[in-house]
Amino acid sequence: MPPCECGCGQIAVRRFVHGHNSRRPLADRLWEKVDTSGGFAECWPFTGRIVHEFGYGRLSYKHKQISAHRLAWETTHGAIPDGLWVLHSCDNPPCCNPGHLFLGTVADNQRDMAQKGRGRNQNTAGALGFSGVDTVAYRVLP
Ligand SMILES: [Zn+2]
Ligand SMILES: [Zn+2]
Repeated sequence: MPPCECGCGQIAVRRFVHGHNSRRPLADRLWEKVDTSGGFAECWPFTGRIVHEFGYGRLSYKHKQISAHRLAWETTHGAIPDGLWVLHSCDNPPCCNPGHLFLGTVADNQRDMAQKGRGRNQNTAGALGFSGVDTVAYRVLP
């Protein structure tokens, strides 16, 4: 049987000793679930669990829920300053292409949504936020 893929050295029946999947670097868990096949100009949809109400990708980490696009921002651009949201220039909530993300305030987000004609759910994405990611330099381009 192969060793556990988390690197702990124990033998795993499947790829991981039970529970060790969540020990892997969060960035790896994110990017393996993002479809980057369209290239940098296209949206990179999150293919894992999606919050249906809002359309954002979601990962769980240490019992917290993390928005996939926020994590995509943090692993490529660094920590998100307090009070700022990660917004989509492409208006595609599951998209994790760092080139389509920008930082803004809640007011920016509401203005942006109003301009794009979707005013619902404006107070929810930030509540799923997360700011404890180790800043991992993650190469997103070949
Ligand atoms: Zn392990
Ligand atoms: Zn996009």
